[in-house]
Amino acid sequence: MRVTTAFKRLLDLSGVTVTDVEFQPSKVVVTLKLRRRQLCCPECSFSTKARYDFRPVHSTWRHLDLGRWRLEVRASLRRISCPVHGVRTEGVPFARAGSHFTRDFENLVGWLATTMDKTAIRRLLRVDWDSVGRIIERVMATELDPRRLEGLFSIGVDEVSWRKGHSYLTLVSNHATGKFVWGKEGKDSARSTASSTSSARSAQKRSRRSRWTWAPPSRARRGPKVTPPKR
Ligand SMILES: [Zn+2]
Repeated sequence: MRVTTAFKRLLDLSGVTVTDVEFQPSKVVVTLKLRRRQLCCPECSFSTKARYDFRPVHSTWRHLDLGRWRLEVRASLRRISCPVHGVRTEGVPFARAGSHFTRDFENLVGWLATTMDKTAIRRLLRVDWDSVGRIIERVMATELDPRRLEGLFSIGVDEVSWRKGHSYLTLVSNHATGKFVWGKEGKDSARSTASSTSSARSAQKRSRRSRWTWAPPSRARRGPKVTPPKR
């Protein structure tokens, strides 16, 4: 089996062909080529066969590590002229718009963010602090289930504080599923939550069985102090 074929199977990225694999002192660089001829806007569904020009430099993305090796994929991309977003580098099927990480890598960060703190993620995956925050924002923007507020009748509200009470985070959870469905920086949760989660509020109006319950503040697993809101 050729090394490019082996890496195509290992990476398991859709819509690409592996054309070259290079072992460098600190990382493995895999060169890809998009299989599709159609150019797609990274921001919307516009696509065309007409290319604007070629991007003069390679685009690179960090992929999931290969053992102790840091894995980087790169590709030479074209540019597209979108009637809405103007001239942009074409979108790729394996990474989100504007990201230097593959979708698989970002999804891993997003999942880890639900189970460990940001410092641990940063050290485990060897990414900087700001990148972790931006990745989580992108994952939230695209992967959050838009139906999570449907059938929401019984909720719990928690306020998490850190930095000695100077920063607060208000979290709303669905008692039926035990999952958080909404969150926002700041406190005064009862009022802000009621005004902001319009879907939850409309769901409450639709059913007489609906009830707003106050969940007893639970101490977060990783230690941030949880305090109940002031009435
Ligand atoms: Zn567009």
